[in-house]
Amino acid sequence: VSTATQLPPPSIHWDLSTLFDSPSDPKIAATWKAVAAKAEEFARTYRGKINTPNLKASTLAQAFRDIEDITQDCAKPVAFAQLSFVTDTANPATGAFLQKQLEKGTELNVTLMFFELEIQAMSKEKVEEMLAAPEMASYRHHLVVTRTFSPYRLSEAEEIILEETANTGSRAWVRLFEEVTANQVYRFRSPDGETEELSQEEVISKLHEPDRATRLAAADAMTSGFRELRKVVVFAYNTLLQDKSVDDRLRKLPYAEHTRHLSNELKKETVDLVVSLCAKHYALVERFYTIKRKILGLPELTHVDRYAPLFEAEDQVSYEEAQEIVLDAFGRFNETMRAKASEFFEKGWIDAEPRAGKQGGAFCMYVTPDTHPYIFSNYLNKIDDVMTLAHELGHGVHSSLSREQTYFNFHGTLPLAELASTFGEMLVFESVVSKASPKDKLAIYAAKIEHVFATVFRQSALYRFEQRSHAARREQGELNAEQFGEIWQEELQAMFGNSVKLGEQHRDWWMYISHFFHTPFYVYAYSFGELLVLSLYQMAKAEGDSFSGRYIELLRKGGSESPNALMASVGIDIDSEQFWEGGFAAMEKLVAEFERLWSEYSSS
Ligand SMILES: [Zn+2]
Repeated sequence: VSTATQLPPPSIHWDLSTLFDSPSDPKIAATWKAVAAKAEEFARTYRGKINTPNLKASTLAQAFRDIEDITQDCAKPVAFAQLSFVTDTANPATGAFLQKQLEKGTELNVTLMFFELEIQAMSKEKVEEMLAAPEMASYRHHLVVTRTFSPYRLSEAEEIILEETANTGSRAWVRLFEEVTANQVYRFRSPDGETEELSQEEVISKLHEPDRATRLAAADAMTSGFRELRKVVVFAYNTLLQDKSVDDRLRKLPYAEHTRHLSNELKKETVDLVVSLCAKHYALVERFYTIKRKILGLPELTHVDRYAPLFEAEDQVSYEEAQEIVLDAFGRFNETMRAKASEFFEKGWIDAEPRAGKQGGAFCMYVTPDTHPYIFSNYLNKIDDVMTLAHELGHGVHSSLSREQTYFNFHGTLPLAELASTFGEMLVFESVVSKASPKDKLAIYAAKIEHVFATVFRQSALYRFEQRSHAARREQGELNAEQFGEIWQEELQAMFGNSVKLGEQHRDWWMYISHFFHTPFYVYAYSFGELLVLSLYQMAKAEGDSFSGRYIELLRKGGSESPNALMASVGIDIDSEQFWEGGFAAMEKLVAEFERLWSEYSSS
C-alpha cells in the first residue's frame, strides 16, 4: 500500500464551443437544413451521371469535392453530440440528442448512397482513365478505396437480399453471442469460501490479482461459466464460419482472410510475412515468462499466472507534471510535435477529469480538418495515466497535422491508425523510465513488455487460430468444442514454449474473444501496427534529427495514400523482412533491459 498522499484528479473540462454552444444552439438545426439542401442538389446534379462512358475527370473531381463538403458539415453536429454524451451519459437528454443527430446523418446517407454505388459499378477502363487524370490527383486514393470491393459485388437485387437477410443471419448470430456472453453469470468462490456472482469483466479482472488462490478461483469460475455457454457459442461460431464461407463463394473471394486484407489495403504476402516472423520469435515470449516465473517464485506458470501482476508502480504524477513530461518528450524529438500537442492544453481540447456520469477510458476524436480534434481521458495521477495521455496526444498530433488534408484524406488508413499514438507512447516511456525509482522502473518495464507481447504475439496467435478454424470449417464441415479447443491450445501454447503450461481449463478460453465473432481477422491489425511502430522507433533513434522531419511529413499525409505508399515516403518497405526484424530487435532490448534491472534489483 502506497503511503504517498493521494493527489486530487485535475478539474480539466473541454470547451466544445468551436463546434456548437449547446444542444439547443440554433446553428445545429441550420447546419442540418443547409446540408439537406446541398444533398438534394447533389443528387439532382449527379444521379445517373457518374457511371456513364462520357464522364469527365473534372466532373468526378467536382462531385468528390461537393460530397466531401456535405459529409464534413454533417460530421460536426454528430461529433458534438458524441462528445457531449461521453461526459454526461446518465442524462437521457444527451442520449436522445445524440440519437437524433445519428438519425439525421443516416437520412442524408440514403440520399447520397447512389454516388458510391455508381462509382462501384464503373468499368475498370473508366476507373483507370479517372485515376490517370490530373484533376483527380487528391481523390485517387479515395476512389481506389471506394472501389475495393467492386470486383466482388453481386447484382443489386442479390445485394439487397444478402443485406436484408443478414439481420436474421450473421448479425443475429453475433448478437446472440454477445447477449449470452454479456448476461452470463460467473460463480466465483473466493479462497475464504464466499460465493459471488460476477460478470465476465469482473471475473477476468480477478485473474490479474496478486493472490494465486484468488486467480485459481477466478479460472474455475470463468471455465465453468464458459462451459455453460459452450453449446450456444460453438454453434454460433460454426454458423458464422459457414456464413462467411458461403458469402465468399458467392462473391468469388479466393480465401477467408481476403476481405480483411482488402479493407486494410494490405497484400496477403505482407501479412503472412509479419505473422510468420511473430512465430519465428516466440522464444522471446518464453524468455520473458521464464523470468516472470522466477520473480513470482513459482515452480511452474500456468494459464492462471499469466496475468499475475509483477510490480505496482507507486509514484503519483499530477496532471501538470504529466503535461510537462509529455510535451518535453515530444519536444526533444521534434519541435512541431511539442507545438501541436501544446495546443490541446492551451485551448481546452482535453477533458481530463474523471467524474460521475462520464464514460471510462480515453480516446482522441479527429472531428474534421476545418475544426480541430478533442481528447477524452480519465486522469487519475497514475503512471499508466501518463502513458495514456501520451498515447492520445500522439493521435492528437497526427490529427492536427492531418488537417492539411481534406476530409476524405484526413483519417489514417486502418493498419496505420495507431502509428502516432504508439510512437508518442514510446517517446514518453523512455522519459518516464529515466526518472523512475528502481522498483517503479521494473513495474513500468513489466507493464510495457506485457502490453507489447499481448499486442504483437498474442494477436498474431489469435489470427492463426482464426485462419485454421475458417479453413477447417471449409474443409471438414462443423467443428466441435474439442476441435476448436485443440486449435486454440496448440496456437497459444506454441507462443509460450516451455515457460507457461496452459492447463485443460484454457481449452475453452477462446470463447470470449468477441472479434472472432463480429470482425473476423481484425486481430492481426494490432500486431501489425505495434510491430511497425517498434521498428520505426528504432530507425528514429538510429537516425536522429533527420528522421523526425520525415516522420512529421508522414503524419501530415493523413490517410491520403495506402499504407505501402505512406511508409515508402519515409523510406520503409513494409514487404521487407529486415524492416520487421527491427521491431523484434526492439522487443529483445526491452526484455534484456528488464532482465538487467531485475538482477540489479534482486541483488541489492
Ligand atoms: Zn489509440
